[in-house]
Amino acid sequence: MENCIFCRIIKGEIPAKKVFEDDLVVVIEDIAPVAPLHLLIIPRKHLVNALDLDPADDALIGHVYRTAARIARDKGVAENGFRIVSNNNAGAGQSVFHIHFHLLGGRQLGWPPG
Ligand code: AMP
Repeated sequence: MENCIFCRIIKGEIPAKKVFEDDLVVVIEDIAPVAPLHLLIIPRKHLVNALDLDPADDALIGHVYRTAARIARDKGVAENGFRIVSNNNAGAGQSVFHIHFHLLGGRQLGWPPG
């Protein structure tokens, strides 16, 4: 999508601190971190949010979660606890309308989230 900031990051048109990438996802550091570890796992496929998923995307979402878990382990936050969060639509805080998953860790994470 031409005007999608995450599509442009994936294409390399906008700089970002990439932590990992493969054929399905790109993982970057969030530009405004809210935790010591705050990464965004971004599927290369432009989907708006969970409402856009269909059965063909099931493997993609599994891959997102396994990638998040592996990175959480690699970054040393797995044992203490980490969170995988996806905001869906504006009322839940979604500001970039390309599906993505926040990986948060490195501090005590409150519940319920705001
Ligand atoms: P959400 O508000 O759930 O849609 O999450 C979007 C996230 O993208 C926010 O945490 C932003 O800080 C982050 N973000 C926006 N633009 C960039 C960028 N250019 N590079 C890295 N992270 C970004």
